[in-house]
Amino acid sequence: MTMANCPRCKKLFPKVYDPICEECAKEEEKLFRTVVDYLRDNPSATVGEVSDATGATAKKILGYLRDGRISISTPELNCRGCGTKIASGNFCDTCAVQNQKDLDELGIKDPDAPKARPKPAPTGPKKVVMHTRSRGGK
Ligand SMILES: [Zn+2]
Ligand SMILES: [Zn+2]
Repeated sequence: MTMANCPRCKKLFPKVYDPICEECAKEEEKLFRTVVDYLRDNPSATVGEVSDATGATAKKILGYLRDGRISISTPELNCRGCGTKIASGNFCDTCAVQNQKDLDELGIKDPDAPKARPKPAPTGPKKVVMHTRSRGGK
């Protein structure tokens, strides 16, 4: 059995499934449920309002959004591709489609591959460095 220190309460616990201890996992789950319940009743709440009402930190709520575990009708996240406001996940629909296309072309299946950001690549003259190996000679 692997023992690990819970990153949340610093307690030593037998690490099985969760990266945090059972008690903290329960607490986290409870908090998550609270957020979900609150959003069900207040679908137009902003992250700030959810945070105030549930006690979950804004960072945590944004984490839920990034993970796609919750969605919020007020876009609070920025698309990682083009920076447009999105309600959940990492990319706007346009970029998600584009990313998928790029990935398909490359034959990569990982949607989180760090290839998504359209960046003007500096295309300077390619430098060909010739290494003349002087090994063995005198
Ligand atoms: Zn813990
Ligand atoms: Zn985008």
